[in-house]
Amino acid sequence: MGMFDTVVFPKPIKCVTCGKLHLDVQTKQFDKTMTSYKVGDIVPTNVIHGVIEEILSCDHGSEGEKYYFDQKCYFVIWHGILIEVAGNIDKAKNKLELFGVGDLFFLYQALFKERNDFQAKYRRLKSWVKSYREFEQLSKEEQQRIRSEDRELKDIGYIDLLPYLSEENPLLSFLEELEESDLSDKTLLF
Ligand SMILES: [Zn+2]
Repeated sequence: MGMFDTVVFPKPIKCVTCGKLHLDVQTKQFDKTMTSYKVGDIVPTNVIHGVIEEILSCDHGSEGEKYYFDQKCYFVIWHGILIEVAGNIDKAKNKLELFGVGDLFFLYQALFKERNDFQAKYRRLKSWVKSYREFEQLSKEEQQRIRSEDRELKDIGYIDLLPYLSEENPLLSFLEELEESDLSDKTLLF
């Protein structure tokens, strides 16, 4: 079975034939492990520094009936890091030539924010699941008390569960809300 990776474009690339905006491209240029790469990621390739050509397939409005392979896009690799996906070779070469440590710092900042968000979400999820598991092991009476206005001071550990307990699937509801939130600036609160 053919495996591939996906490269997500920093901004959409327009099909020159039909105008469709493409958000990403599938590629077999890397490890083919169904990984999604975006600008800022280190990519597994032998090209340490240069431009990799890839074909952007498009159905040109045929709604998936037929695919055309008449356009290219270019992965720009700077010291092993994907720094841009360009729609034409000149832009790609230009980016490679002009990219410097200052630009790298902006990529790093974005990644750092993403890392903080992920860490904070993981910690919140871990603590929520732990409370939920404990809650599930309580007797029906205790659970009822925690859900009601009669909850006691010792029930404070379950306070994060309360907004979700009336949902059909509390964990799923919590996860959905967590995924939508941005905790990148709140790392230190947990
Ligand atoms: Zn097209």
